[in-house]
Amino acid sequence: MLKKLDTDGLVIVTEEVCAKVVDRALAFNAVQDVFGAMARGDAYNFPVIREAIGHEDALYGFKSGFDKAGMVLGVKAGGYWPNNMAKGIINHQSTVFLFDPDTGKLKALVGGNYLTAIRTAASSAVSIAQLSRKDSKVLGMVGAGHQSTFQLRAAVEQRDFEKVVCWNPHPEMIPNLAKVADEIGVPFEAVEREQLGAEADVIITITSAFESLIEADWIKPGTHLACMGTDTKGKQEVSSELVAKATLFTDEVAQSTTIGETQHAIAAGLISEADVTPIGKVINGDHAGRTSDDEITLFDGTGVGLQDLAVAAVAAQQAAATGEATQVAL
Ligand code: NAD
Repeated sequence: MLKKLDTDGLVIVTEEVCAKVVDRALAFNAVQDVFGAMARGDAYNFPVIREAIGHEDALYGFKSGFDKAGMVLGVKAGGYWPNNMAKGIINHQSTVFLFDPDTGKLKALVGGNYLTAIRTAASSAVSIAQLSRKDSKVLGMVGAGHQSTFQLRAAVEQRDFEKVVCWNPHPEMIPNLAKVADEIGVPFEAVEREQLGAEADVIITITSAFESLIEADWIKPGTHLACMGTDTKGKQEVSSELVAKATLFTDEVAQSTTIGETQHAIAAGLISEADVTPIGKVINGDHAGRTSDDEITLFDGTGVGLQDLAVAAVAAQQAAATGEATQVAL
């Protein structure tokens, strides 16, 4: 369990150092712990602010919270600058600020870009570990963008996958993901969506879709889905009928039903908020999770600030402990 950052002054951790000191296992444990703390009521997210700033078409905002179990208090500030690519930097830009929960003093500034990718991958990986069938052999990837490579690497560590099948609305992006599968050493095949549904035991969706990409009758009984792309009102990756058919889990119910994958089934009256269970309850042993090999489970990973703070706290601690951080007296 992560405790307070025991350093005087301010710890600064660059993007490069984050990538060096936070590996997938550390991110997995940090995210799993904080989901458990959220479900116990020991950690909570504050309301999210997200604004179009009227400059560079940018969306800028804050995700923040307090984890009393891990003693992590802070905020991730940042957003999306669509013109960055042309400037040679990635469109998503963020920084995490961590504060001493005892005094409010600023303790750490941590680059948030790599951490966002690794904490999102950890979230779906936690869901696979907790909810997928142990004998899952085929992983279906819907999406082949920046996040998908992190998702794939974290997923293959959870089950003995023998094959990856992939579909992406922009086929020209698929070789990027195929390359990663090749590096990992798992066979990879680009397929049509129906075939993906017919073969996959676990499906990760990680796209920017605004309409359903996967239909209920395409997937097998016993499939686990981790829907990770939908994090805004209006976005959607799988059909409402599929959502209604599945046993539903999420990181945070309030986000899932308003900006996550369950928003459309809720609006259509197919399910209610009570049908969506925080995955932390499964982690804490307060919910059975999957109860049969035929059950379809769906994890709606909407992305919460506490995930960012959890991995940033690990980055700050690891970087300080290994001498990789820059430390400044305040
Ligand atoms: P990216 O731009 O690198 O890739 C986008 C992906 O979505 C590609 O697979 C692309 O083919 C597909 N896509 C683009 N436009 C589409 C459309 N109109 N319809 C269907 N598919 C479309 O983005 P990324 O960094 O890989 O992020 C993917 C998604 O994940 C984004 O929507 C992002 O907001 C979301 N995300 C979620 C979390 C979370 O915690 N849940 C965290 C980070 C990112």
